[in-house]
Amino acid sequence: MSCANCNGIPAECARCGEGGGVATAERNAEHRLGQFQTTPQRDEPVPSASIANDHLGCKKSTGAKVGADGELHSKHFTSTRNACKLCTPLGACLVYRGVEGCIPFLHGSQGCSTYIRRYLISHFREPMDIASSNFHEDSAIFGGSKNFSQGALNITRQYQPQLIGAATTCLTETIGEDMPRLLHELRQNHGDAAAPIVHVSTPSYRGTHIDGFHDAVKALVEQLGSAAGDACAAAPRINLFPGMVSAADLRHLKEILADFGLNYTLLPDYSESMDGETWEQYEKIQSGGTPLAAIAATGSAKASIEFGRVLEAKETAGTSLVKKFSVPRHLLGMPMGIRETDAFFNLLATLSGNAIPLKYQRERGRLVDSLIDGHKYTFEKRAIVYGDEDLVIGLTAFLCEIGVTPVLCATGARSGKFEAAIRAAAPGLPSETLVKAGLDFAETAEVAPELKPDFLIGSSKGYKISRSLDVPLIRVGFPIHDRVGGQRVLHLGYRGAQELYDRIVNALLEAKQDTSTIGYSYL
Ligand code: SF4
Repeated sequence: MSCANCNGIPAECARCGEGGGVATAERNAEHRLGQFQTTPQRDEPVPSASIANDHLGCKKSTGAKVGADGELHSKHFTSTRNACKLCTPLGACLVYRGVEGCIPFLHGSQGCSTYIRRYLISHFREPMDIASSNFHEDSAIFGGSKNFSQGALNITRQYQPQLIGAATTCLTETIGEDMPRLLHELRQNHGDAAAPIVHVSTPSYRGTHIDGFHDAVKALVEQLGSAAGDACAAAPRINLFPGMVSAADLRHLKEILADFGLNYTLLPDYSESMDGETWEQYEKIQSGGTPLAAIAATGSAKASIEFGRVLEAKETAGTSLVKKFSVPRHLLGMPMGIRETDAFFNLLATLSGNAIPLKYQRERGRLVDSLIDGHKYTFEKRAIVYGDEDLVIGLTAFLCEIGVTPVLCATGARSGKFEAAIRAAAPGLPSETLVKAGLDFAETAEVAPELKPDFLIGSSKGYKISRSLDVPLIRVGFPIHDRVGGQRVLHLGYRGAQELYDRIVNALLEAKQDTSTIGYSYL
């Protein structure tokens, strides 16, 4: 078990100081020295080219090498160092902020909510309140029932939310807190004094922020969805579960759905609550978000669309609606680049019975034209792509379309579906490209120099690698902590592909100018 943030075990979450009760002081001491082995020892290395160890502040070099078999081999592998994934409740909290009138509530110790708030605020540059049931030593031993009830009542009194979105932290999960019993006791003892609560289980040692995100969407649909629907709606209703995308992506998706004349539930929708306007008066809970009535109507929809090629075998909001209300589910890749976006638009045309609006046909046409204009700058350029699985899959498909060779596609997640999904989405991906699940930034840094990338594309957490290699970093996804506007990066649709393409080409041109002794002004 490891804390996705501090890379430690829950008993030693260095960031929040949380203890999980499963590790001894001796093991914690080993962990601090970088000796604690949390995953099985990997195979002995296959001799091959040595890779420089630029391990970004990690505790210990692994001496990682790319073997003759094309695999990464690490002689002294210890544990995750500088993880390429985030804490599971973080994803759940973001989902809850994308529901109208909802306040996230973490059942666990205070440090977890502080960490998640800091992470989200640094990216979105918006206030992010997350309540905590504030575990202390006694709650870790005797359970946090009282903390949970008191917390729910305090939140209701102070925020008057329409909904409380509860999620559990590593500590709560480790002690085996019985959440259904706690919810039952709350209602038994206090009736309706606390606002309605939706609960999701989010142990960080069993997933990533993306798992927490999808599981929270599923919990909302399962606990609030119904078949009653909105009978008076003039247009067919569809559900769209986009996964963890930017606020700009959500706004663009809403525009597309409206242009197809569809009545829709977009869940979650933090396009306004996490990227809003200035206020005349302080708002305890920012306005915006998916209305509860729209979530209730998910069971009466004509179809659900979910973005996420790795979700194939996972229980999601979409599969839940299939089982409970027989709502057909369409699983697509994130609509990034031309082929994946075509699939999304064609499906919307089928579901709505309307042709693809002219403005999107024109956006596609301009995109294709720009790819022709810029192909000489991108052709055979080498890229390292990293981040959340489905984002990396979408980016890789797009990079292959524009003539870039992804040399490493890396994610910190371990769904078991990553490589098959990426090769299905990007059939042009060379067989020698390294496709790695469960990779951390220290391992990526060790292997990167040998791969000789022209640029990196991923979150701002790859900055130190790009700096050490002196190649551009195209910041996409989450988190982007060293620039403003991370929430306004558009990734999806033809428009998102156009913006990404222009950024990639211009970054390559800028790098060429900056490293030129001549200083060409015409490229
Ligand atoms: S919930 Fe997140 S912050 Fe808290 S201990 Fe687990 S991984 Fe660390």
